[in-house]
Amino acid sequence: MSEKSAYIGTTIFDGQQMHHNSALLLKDDRIEGIVAIDNIGSDYQCVELNAGLLTSGFIDLQVNGGGGVLLNENPSLDGLQTICEAHLPFGTTALLPTLITDTPEITERAIEAAIEAESLSLPGFLGLHLEGPHLSTIKKGAHSPNLIRRMSDKDIGILCEAKRNISNLLITLAPEAVDSDQIAQLAACGIHLSLGHSAATALEAKQAFKAGVSSVTHLFNAMSPLTHREPGIVGAALNTDNIYCGLIADGYHVNSDAINIALKMKSGSGKLFLVTDAMSTIGTDQSEFELNGRIVKRQDGRLTLSDGTLAGADLDMISAVRFMAKETNCNMEEALSMASNYPARYLNITQEYGHLNKGAFGNFVHINDQIEILSVWQNGQKAQ
Ligand SMILES: [Zn+2]
Repeated sequence: MSEKSAYIGTTIFDGQQMHHNSALLLKDDRIEGIVAIDNIGSDYQCVELNAGLLTSGFIDLQVNGGGGVLLNENPSLDGLQTICEAHLPFGTTALLPTLITDTPEITERAIEAAIEAESLSLPGFLGLHLEGPHLSTIKKGAHSPNLIRRMSDKDIGILCEAKRNISNLLITLAPEAVDSDQIAQLAACGIHLSLGHSAATALEAKQAFKAGVSSVTHLFNAMSPLTHREPGIVGAALNTDNIYCGLIADGYHVNSDAINIALKMKSGSGKLFLVTDAMSTIGTDQSEFELNGRIVKRQDGRLTLSDGTLAGADLDMISAVRFMAKETNCNMEEALSMASNYPARYLNITQEYGHLNKGAFGNFVHINDQIEILSVWQNGQKAQ
């Protein structure tokens, strides 16, 4: 016998618009829809939530770690599980664990772990993001320059083979290390491609978009900036309508006015979506950790290498949503969409993710007026 619940007493954001005096209907692990309070069927058990807002579970496409685990240090099923669980209390019900530049052996282990996680339907696991190693050393950020390398035909074979068993595979690459033909081959395999850690010109970026790149990784950070004679990757991404942009909204990586400019430019089919770029610190009181043999220090909401380079973010998704709603020109609907609906659209998984309409998985979050998490449901089960 199936379990039917009707969640009432809150405003509901379905991914597009707000609903008042309505109920969110859940049947087992799936959303049944949103109806007026008076139209709740008698076979539904009502759950009173007393104020606040219900919204679709957050989707984070760039998560290096959490719960004390960094994927690069622990590329295993256990590591993936710890990372997915660590982000759940912050409203993230689906994420792409992200491996930054590493050796071919570590990359292979991460791919194997991801394939295992997908075959076991690991809760919260959505696929894999490989950020590197095919990047530019000029914009390396915290990536180890010794491990950055050009893409080979062998790499393309490995990645396209991985895509056969990983539904959502995202690769951040730089045109300096991957040519247009290679980009086209990866895109033809169904891999999502994103420009990042690159000093490419605007023209080179546009050629990469034409070849099959559909987004840029952490817009503004570790990429050629917009200047008046050379608009760089930033200019090309903001000025190309269908290109999506990941954004780290922690108040340190990108200035609020720069975000406001990007918001105006990305109001077409390509959108800004929020990523945390979180490291192992999320959900822990860790004060430092190791990355490719180097120490990263955590202080005042920032993670830095000894030379001051930002090394990922000390950020969870509800904090990013709160930052957008309070510190930028973004309204609440847009801030919530950036954390759920837009990343789902980018991955083309909106049949089951990124909204609260019929057919979506029962992934949703209850937040209060201060934009803090009250409860989280994953696959129809209350997890928090
Ligand atoms: Zn990066």
